[in-house]
Amino acid sequence: MRLGLFNGNLKTIIMAVKNTETGEVHIGYKGGETGCGFDTSASHWVYSNERITCDRNGCKN
Ligand SMILES: [Zn+2]
Repeated sequence: MRLGLFNGNLKTIIMAVKNTETGEVHIGYKGGETGCGFDTSASHWVYSNERITCDRNGCKN
């Protein structure tokens, strides 16, 4: 559970963070990591309720 996500059968709310420099939306949370491994502690990461747009492993699934 390193991302704080539930990976069971239940569809649960997935936290998303946006990189405001690239506009890309990833799975993850502020102060942690995105699903694909970016460190989100920098100030250009913000919480987002947009659809995940990152294609990398860990975010797209
Ligand atoms: Zn990602």
